[in-house]
Amino acid sequence: PAPVLAVVGRPNVGKSTLVNRLLGRREAVVQDIPGVTRDRIAYDALWNGRRFTLVDTGGWEPDAKGLQASVAAQAEMAMQTADAVLLVVDASVGATTTDEAVARVLRRGDVPVMLCATKVDDDRLTSDIASLWRLGLGEPHPVSGLHGRGSGDLLDRILDIL
Ligand code: GDP
Ligand code: MG
Repeated sequence: PAPVLAVVGRPNVGKSTLVNRLLGRREAVVQDIPGVTRDRIAYDALWNGRRFTLVDTGGWEPDAKGLQASVAAQAEMAMQTADAVLLVVDASVGATTTDEAVARVLRRGDVPVMLCATKVDDDRLTSDIASLWRLGLGEPHPVSGLHGRGSGDLLDRILDIL
């Protein structure tokens, strides 16, 4: 079976937009309302002749357990079911305490984790991206799910860890 990459992160950071971009087609549900994607959905992805499965995990109600507990649970679930995890952080916001909590959960696991900073539509956020090193998950990879900037490089790095 194809290796599985789970995409995790807070509601509204741009997970579904990024998943669509990485797939090269429009499938994952994108909405302006946080938490709108209700189910974890798996998609077949193909890059450089290699198949993998992309899982958009944004699918739980943040109000049920509180945002931080929900995102931590999402990360735990991702680590149990995926071969690698992509943590998505909104570069226009920077790392929040919730991002730090989920990064802590992901660092404790033994699944490879990659960090990406999305909504990097242009060069303006370069210094903010560097601050994401403090999440302790290695290099933050800049990408714009909306415009596609950096998505090819991100796919190359993803295949490196899958
Ligand atoms: P999710 O809840 O993490 O799945 O986030 P969505 O993909 O649904 O996106 C949430 C909002 O952020 C939507 O309004 C998107 O249009 C916007 N968004 C997502 N990616 C980008 C991006 O790369 N650049 C910009 N400017 N906006 C984005
Ligand atoms: Mg979503």
